[in-house]
Amino acid sequence: EARKQGGNGAEFYTAVFNIGASNTFVLEAEFRRAWENQELEVYYQPKVSLTNGEIVGCEALLRWQHPERGRVSPDKFMSIAEETGLIDPIGEWVVKTAGQQVLSWHKAGWKDLRLAINLSSRQFSQINLRQRLAKILAAIPLGFQYVELEFTEPSLIQNPAIATQRLNAFKALGMQIVIDDFGTGYSSLNYLLRFPFDALKIDQCFVQNLVDNPTNQAITKAIIQMAHGLNLKVTAEGVETEDELEFFCEHQCDEIQGYLFSPPLSAREFTKLLQSKKRLY
Ligand code: C2E
Ligand code: MG
Ligand code: MG
Ligand code: MG
Repeated sequence: EARKQGGNGAEFYTAVFNIGASNTFVLEAEFRRAWENQELEVYYQPKVSLTNGEIVGCEALLRWQHPERGRVSPDKFMSIAEETGLIDPIGEWVVKTAGQQVLSWHKAGWKDLRLAINLSSRQFSQINLRQRLAKILAAIPLGFQYVELEFTEPSLIQNPAIATQRLNAFKALGMQIVIDDFGTGYSSLNYLLRFPFDALKIDQCFVQNLVDNPTNQAITKAIIQMAHGLNLKVTAEGVETEDELEFFCEHQCDEIQGYLFSPPLSAREFTKLLQSKKRLY
């Protein structure tokens, strides 16, 4: 009986694997075409200060507007972008596009607005990433002090010595270093001390159900205290409710991002949001 089940399992696995593989193949071809046909777009999600309720920055987030499937989220295509290496040219295009956009917001009067850029492991391992980014930003020109780079743990732990050197080189240019999705990996206190972070983003998994979940409350409070003890700014991501907002205000979190204030928006919509002078409270 067990052997029979095992056999079925193997067949089932093979079938799923084949479907999965051909889907990946199709998606990969479509993604190449999408990049060539300029179906990718940069969206912007506001970062809001809990000190004054104002928009202090924006995070650039990729969107793929597929002609038939509609909007495809980065969860579906980032792995393809990474595996094909397309993330390298796409990443540079994101910096250029978002950098020009933020400069135009500066010129329109929002002169302190910061730009946050996500960088994947593959991008971070490019030897000349710093020179490339610096060149793109200088050509815009957007001051390095307005740029924050968001990294996740996998980029850093593979070779901590080299990662530290590279992060320090970005810092030397005046950019800010942010650790994204904090708390989801193996991150220890040692790791927070080792890398030259300026800010930490609490992962949304701790933010969701925060109000009914004492464990997440304890973790979140501890992360904020620890970060402040190390002179790091703290951003909470995925804030969706007033109760969550209240919690983060009460515990002196510095900034929030989330649907409560605004989802990621097109440049046009983000401009309207800035003009509306909407405040968090
Ligand atoms: P991330 O950097 O951690 O971005 C936060 C994600 O949370 C975004 O998903 C954002 O749309 C979503 N989010 C924001 N507020 C809320 C909320 O209140 N509730 C919920 N449920 N979600 C919220 P998105 O845009 O799908 O991006 C997913 C990931 O893809 C990003 O995670 C980032 O790691 C990656 N990514 C996106 N754009 C780029 C890019 O240009 N370059 C690179 N390397 N990675 C990117
Ligand atoms: Mg991010
Ligand atoms: Mg995140
Ligand atoms: Mg994430």
